[in-house]
Amino acid sequence: MNRIAMHRSMVALLVSTSIGLAACSSTTASDGAPTADSPDLSVAANFYPVEWLVKEIGGDAISVTGLTPLGEEPHDLILNAQTREVIESSNVVFYLGSGFQPDVEKALAQRSQGPEAVDLLKAPGVVLLDAPADLGKESLAGNKDPHVWLDPTLMQAMAKEIAAVLSKAAPSQSGEFEKNRDALLASLGALDDELQGAIRGCLTNTIVTSHAAFNYLAQRYGLIQLAITGISPDDQPDPATLQQIAADAKAAGVTTVFFEEQLPRELSETVAMEIGARIDLLSALEFDPEEFIGPGQSYLTVMSDNGKRIAAGLQCA
Ligand SMILES: [Zn+2]
Repeated sequence: MNRIAMHRSMVALLVSTSIGLAACSSTTASDGAPTADSPDLSVAANFYPVEWLVKEIGGDAISVTGLTPLGEEPHDLILNAQTREVIESSNVVFYLGSGFQPDVEKALAQRSQGPEAVDLLKAPGVVLLDAPADLGKESLAGNKDPHVWLDPTLMQAMAKEIAAVLSKAAPSQSGEFEKNRDALLASLGALDDELQGAIRGCLTNTIVTSHAAFNYLAQRYGLIQLAITGISPDDQPDPATLQQIAADAKAAGVTTVFFEEQLPRELSETVAMEIGARIDLLSALEFDPEEFIGPGQSYLTVMSDNGKRIAAGLQCA
């Protein structure tokens, strides 16, 4: 928690610096649209996976600012004055709706003018799963599961939507956006092939996860998720539920319990100890992996690593 608080203050500094830079370098018209002299778009993205997609597609033609401060839990994010200013001063805001970050949705609904707001959960080809019924009911409007980014094929659907929106907002750059989109679709397709190849012939198909982030990944690769906490990591189980999870995990032949890089490990360790399993990292990619896993890490490398850890943990062929 101390680490998160420390990062929060660093982020405030970074955000204010980037606002300063944006103010110096861009000449935007009073309605927020780019002028003929400045084709560069300023784009806001709600958290790491969306930010990564937008940067990959936008390249140098756009400036991207994340709304979730470094190290801060993205679920139920509360916007501060600086991130509200980022929303106001952006041309386009990409976000995930369905109650993932209600404060972001509220800020976008309240604006009288300003950025085009794009809910990527409504992108063509993104089919939402219901949130698990047992946990997290209160935190989700409509009870839909927002964790679509953990299925590379749904990342492809969102990438197509982002490229279409950016091309419409800056038509002179559309060739660049489409080229970047195609390269990204190929990388995500290769990742999907790799995961399909890694996660097959497993001794168990149950992944015990720290929070309920992996339903889309489980659906894509034929797995069953047994989550220790809810859709939001704040939805904690009571001792009886924890006992039940351990019993279910044991019955499913689980030998590895997964934890996440930025969440407390205690619950994963408790379940693992109860059933004599080991623990291993499985990233939900809700935090910038360059900051929290290591330099050079990105969505692609961490998902590839997730596939290897699942294959090892489930003893796949
Ligand atoms: Zn989550």
